[in-house]
Amino acid sequence: MAAFVGIDLGTTNSVVARRNAYGRPEVVPNRDGANVTPSVIYFGSDPPAIGEEAKEWARLGDAEIASFFKPHMGSPLYQLEFRGKTYSAADLSALVLKRLKEDAEAAMREVVDRAVITVPAYFGDAQRKATIAAGEAAGLRVMRIINEPTAAALAYGLNRAADVEETVLVYDLGGGTFDVTVARITPGDVAVLATAGDHDLGGKNWDDRIATFLAEKFAEETGFDPLDDPVALNEVLVRSEQAKWTLSERTSARVTLQLGAERKTFEIGRDEFEAMTAPLMDRTRRLTEEALAEAGLDWRRLDGVLLVGGSTRMPMVRSYVAKMAGKPPRTGVNVDEVVALGAAIQAATEAGESIGDARPTFTLGSAPPPRKVVDVMSHSLGVVAVAADGRSYVNDVVIRRNVPIPADGVRTYMHATHGGANTRLEVYLTQGESASPLDCTVLGKYAFDGIAATDAEVAVDVGLSYDADGVVQVRATQRDSGHRLAMTVEPVPDDLSWLAGPPRAAEDSAPGRTRVMLLIDGSSSMMGEPMAEARDAAREFLGRCDFTRMEVGLISFATDVALQCGLTSNVRRLSAAIHRLEAEGSTNLADALEMARGSLVADDARRYVVLLTDGFPDAAEAAVEQAQAAQAQGIEVVAIGMGAADSEYLARLASGEAASIFVHGGELVRAFGHIARVISEGGRSMRILDR
Ligand code: AMP
Repeated sequence: MAAFVGIDLGTTNSVVARRNAYGRPEVVPNRDGANVTPSVIYFGSDPPAIGEEAKEWARLGDAEIASFFKPHMGSPLYQLEFRGKTYSAADLSALVLKRLKEDAEAAMREVVDRAVITVPAYFGDAQRKATIAAGEAAGLRVMRIINEPTAAALAYGLNRAADVEETVLVYDLGGGTFDVTVARITPGDVAVLATAGDHDLGGKNWDDRIATFLAEKFAEETGFDPLDDPVALNEVLVRSEQAKWTLSERTSARVTLQLGAERKTFEIGRDEFEAMTAPLMDRTRRLTEEALAEAGLDWRRLDGVLLVGGSTRMPMVRSYVAKMAGKPPRTGVNVDEVVALGAAIQAATEAGESIGDARPTFTLGSAPPPRKVVDVMSHSLGVVAVAADGRSYVNDVVIRRNVPIPADGVRTYMHATHGGANTRLEVYLTQGESASPLDCTVLGKYAFDGIAATDAEVAVDVGLSYDADGVVQVRATQRDSGHRLAMTVEPVPDDLSWLAGPPRAAEDSAPGRTRVMLLIDGSSSMMGEPMAEARDAAREFLGRCDFTRMEVGLISFATDVALQCGLTSNVRRLSAAIHRLEAEGSTNLADALEMARGSLVADDARRYVVLLTDGFPDAAEAAVEQAQAAQAQGIEVVAIGMGAADSEYLARLASGEAASIFVHGGELVRAFGHIARVISEGGRSMRILDR
């Protein structure tokens, strides 16, 4: 039977753990007998060297080194080339994982074919998918992805009495990342209440501070700035990290730099080090407070703080935690190994061989029962939508951060197909908290096709879900038919700057305005009630227009055609013109259309004629010709009929099936309102339903 392991695939170091014969998790040493394998690859040898040997080459300043690639998992921009081959961060991680698997197999003397792999809690969808892909490329079935701090809490919980309930904070400061998690450990489960983090904050930043300090001093004394020279810089960075380690043990460190012919020795005090890195500690403090606030807790309510990651060996971290929590952090766990141990526990649970299940009778004490892991995601997931007022694009959060996963959320959006002209809905998936889409990460673009063509707007249910690994799925269903729409995943366009602007129709790429000429039938049949209703409808129309980017004009047509109001954004003038509308004589639609064409000259604006008639016009064919000429000019013609109007004739005037409507008495106002809204929205593909 093949075996499974838990893997902490770290930015700087990786660790493998397994469930031992006593049902307890333990670290599996690598081929060098070490518990920790540096996540470093050296491509100067064939095959590439991985781990401690590669790190040795890196120390010597060799260029054929890949390290620190984990933060770039899933990024299409991160591509390294070695010996004519290109590697993504996932390819590099796969090499490390393959090495870990081989070493574990040698140590365990069995085939390892499955693993739980941990990731930082802040890892988003692309990074999680890339981690799974890397595991599979290394020949491992990825049983589950769990968050590193959650794994730590799981391992930690194992050492506690089976019946205690505790709320703990996991403060995880590694080489390149910081994660802070608040978790509730009960006998039955480990439930993560909140998490926050920064993927660009870790021990490396502390090294950089020392390096900058040393480089400045060196430049001052010798005139040579090591920051200008890659080999010298590497040397300074290596010495800086060593000085940092020393400062974890002692109150001062001596650093000797031999760069070229110059040799200088410097002294750094711990106080000095802590002062220069105070801004970095502040960043961890802010994120910690953010996580506590999300969990609705404060420091005093915590039962304990668990430190994870090599950088928590720095005394400043310990004193900060002790000061805030009012008690020292929990000890007794190895900060480098605890995550892998947690992963091994989870792997056993996934395999149905829960830790503690196979408790041999000769063990003393009791292994606690398996705990279910209830994890959360540190990012909210949403989609780009048009705000309810139609004026901007917004990030509409569908699944809030810090809700337990797996999680699912559905939102309904209205989609205008314009009678079949636009049966595709484009969903931009976002990750982030901001209402502004450009402040979020756009994770993907999903196109849904096959929305049934109708005149009205169609309600589409867009569903997002996180699975237990935190991987995202997207789906869409047409609400009325229950029809699941076909999905195509498309590349996210490089240029998303349009998200900052006002929404526009997809077909209207020029930054234009919208012009609408209203043509109202003033023939004698409209006298009385119909004309009153037409006036109300026209007012309703105005009420729905966005006059920041629209101009509307009014033409009445009876025996004579009159321009009651030229194109304007002035609502008062338009209202006055509507008030003046009267009914008398016949129906000269053809001339009215010609007049409208003359006003709606070709420019970058979207142009519409919206006409209302209650019967056949005088020169019916001439009117159709004018309507067609208007369309040829790029003007969209919307024809609304009432009373004795003929719907087949209306269809011949209108630009498309959806653009001709026959309304019965009492519906006119609503119909005009609807048309104004569609025009005003600029045929944009999606908007938020009033909720
Ligand atoms: P990790 O990613 O958890 O393996 O953490 C690696 C980071 O921990 C690196 O930045 C190391 O320099 C840092 N680190 C390891 N040991 C110490 C120590 N004794 N004092 C300070 N930082 C350390």
